[in-house]
Amino acid sequence: MRISDVLRVKGDRVVTVAPATRVDELLKVLAEHRIGAIVVSADGTRVDGIVSERDIVRALAVRGAAVLAEPVSAIHTTEVRTVVPEAPLDEVERLMTERRFRHVPVVVDGVLHGIVSIGDVVKLRIDELESERSSLAGYITGERS
Ligand code: AMP
Repeated sequence: MRISDVLRVKGDRVVTVAPATRVDELLKVLAEHRIGAIVVSADGTRVDGIVSERDIVRALAVRGAAVLAEPVSAIHTTEVRTVVPEAPLDEVERLMTERRFRHVPVVVDGVLHGIVSIGDVVKLRIDELESERSSLAGYITGERS
């Protein structure tokens, strides 16, 4: 399984915000799209940063509600780990587990091609296990599912 298999299921659409977007606007975008992290991009195709709910919570805890009027660039992470579509799924799982983040943008030649969340990866793994289970059950009982 590769990252391209995840994108085939979920699509390559990526929600981005510009670095100057205010944090209170960012909250609306997160809520509207029901997502936990957004790629920060000045032109909508390059990755300038990533900002997740955790960045907002941390900034609110430290600086209070004034953060809501600040630009996203005041709280985003600029050193973003990205993957290519050919990356094996287990490599990305290891990356997410070791670095403790739940989102990884997919980039080809500097251009955004999708984003993968830990939820997407877990869903694919569950589907994979279910398909294996059903094949094995069919093999044992002599039935095909
Ligand atoms: P998350 O678990 O994805 O909500 O993110 C936890 C922390 O890691 C936040 O500070 C994010 O800005 C940061 N982060 C999320 N994804 C990445 C990534 N792919 N590369 C680097 N940092 C990230």
